[in-house]
Amino acid sequence: MTANKNLQDNLIRGETGDWEIVIGMEVHAQVLSESKLFSSAATAFGAEPNAQVSFVDAAMPGMLPVINKKCVEQAVRTGLGINAKINLHSVFDRKNYFYADLPSGYQISQFKDPIVGKGQIELDMPDGSTRTIGITRLHLEQDAGKSMHDQSPTESYIDLNRSGVALMEIVSEPDLRSSEEAGLYLKKLRTILRYLGTCDGNMDEGSMRADVNVSVRKPGDPLGTRCEIKNVNSMRFVVQAVEYEARRQIEIIEGGGVIKQETRLFDNAKGETRSMRSKEEAHDYRYFPDPDLLPLILDEAWVNHIKATLPELPDDRKNRYIKDFGLTSYDAGVLVAEKDTAVYFENAAKGREGKLAANWVMGELFGALNKENKTISESPVSADALGGLLDLIMNGTISGRTAKEVFEEMYASGKPAAKIVEEKGLQQVSDVGELEKAIDDVIAQNPDKVAEYRGGKDKLFGFFVGQVMKNTGGKANPGVVNDLLKKKLAG
Ligand code: ADP
Ligand code: MG
Repeated sequence: MTANKNLQDNLIRGETGDWEIVIGMEVHAQVLSESKLFSSAATAFGAEPNAQVSFVDAAMPGMLPVINKKCVEQAVRTGLGINAKINLHSVFDRKNYFYADLPSGYQISQFKDPIVGKGQIELDMPDGSTRTIGITRLHLEQDAGKSMHDQSPTESYIDLNRSGVALMEIVSEPDLRSSEEAGLYLKKLRTILRYLGTCDGNMDEGSMRADVNVSVRKPGDPLGTRCEIKNVNSMRFVVQAVEYEARRQIEIIEGGGVIKQETRLFDNAKGETRSMRSKEEAHDYRYFPDPDLLPLILDEAWVNHIKATLPELPDDRKNRYIKDFGLTSYDAGVLVAEKDTAVYFENAAKGREGKLAANWVMGELFGALNKENKTISESPVSADALGGLLDLIMNGTISGRTAKEVFEEMYASGKPAAKIVEEKGLQQVSDVGELEKAIDDVIAQNPDKVAEYRGGKDKLFGFFVGQVMKNTGGKANPGVVNDLLKKKLAG
């Protein structure tokens, strides 16, 4: 399991040779909590504008923030889930800037002393290799409000519902090496957050957004100058943004130019990035410890208690599937990516051949669901029902080929597999006497072919199998047919 082959494959060919892409991500993940980081206002998505705003969130004079223990617990839980160091001492700072949707004139965030330090996340690459991506830190901060520019032709409105909602900013090391890895990283992080129940991961509702830092270099060179693409809000856009940005930078450098460190925006419609502000104009936030908040001191026993109550995480689950069901690392990785899929698979596989169950879930079932854009929880075929079909394959009642036909019917009608097989008379014929008769007929009808086969044309064997299958309406047990045919043809 080396990563070297992979890294070689990732290089981009330019006019002056191969280039390596370097990516580090800063992901903002909204904490799953009933109320905000420093106030008791609600956090539910989709409320009427300004329906969930306390005096603290609106920054009324003299209001004091009070830390929400649940949000702290969620941050610690997340830190433990990404194998990170939990800092028992952390500090909240004020990050000062002016913006219309930030009534206090500062955001409360953690700067020098974050609640979570270094950790790591494992990526399962499609070629079966694994990549370990370093996590630099995770810190807690407040979200700002939202400016609404599309409500009136002449005015902008402000919605403060998001103001004060807890975010976890999760910063990665510059360890990612391709757009594919960047996409997989975001996906894996989302999977972990969802297993932990610390963020719902709904990117289309803004619960997770990524700032993507991209630079390029010749392999072996020091890191190049990076550009930061702000607020990318889907997996697909992350992949597109990295690809576009890397090529843009390579073209500039190969054209004799230099990359200026800057913040850029990704235009979803055009598929390109464009400049937002350069580092020269970058803000000086004048961070200083928030005088309204004491340093956050965690009790080690409390952290250990959270650790002891963590659910089974995707990597553990994956390893269990490899061990108990004999799956490949990649297949196991695909099945654990969504918890609903993992639970479905386990129910269908229980007491059956794991590999067979995995193939059916990832092949026929995913194929049928994808065609209709359905999630696994909307599947017309339940895990138990699929298990019923697998039983019929495993005990030889139907062949794998017939099973596909049965599955289609199950998916369309919701009927159990056994019933469909019985109604349509699809049972496989394994009866030796019956199959011998079918084989004798085929041999009698094709004397020339039999002579050719016996004369050494081995390839004709498939022809005979095909004829027997045809004459039995595809119901002959292929294993039994093979054995009997070999004997009879040997003459
Ligand atoms: P800032 O806070 O100014 O954005 P950081 O040093 O905290 O700067 O880095 C932010 C992100 O940029 C991190 O995810 C880091 O991995 C990434 N990064 C740093 N240097 C590079 C580089 N040369 N190329 C790509 N990403 C980088
Ligand atoms: Mg940054």
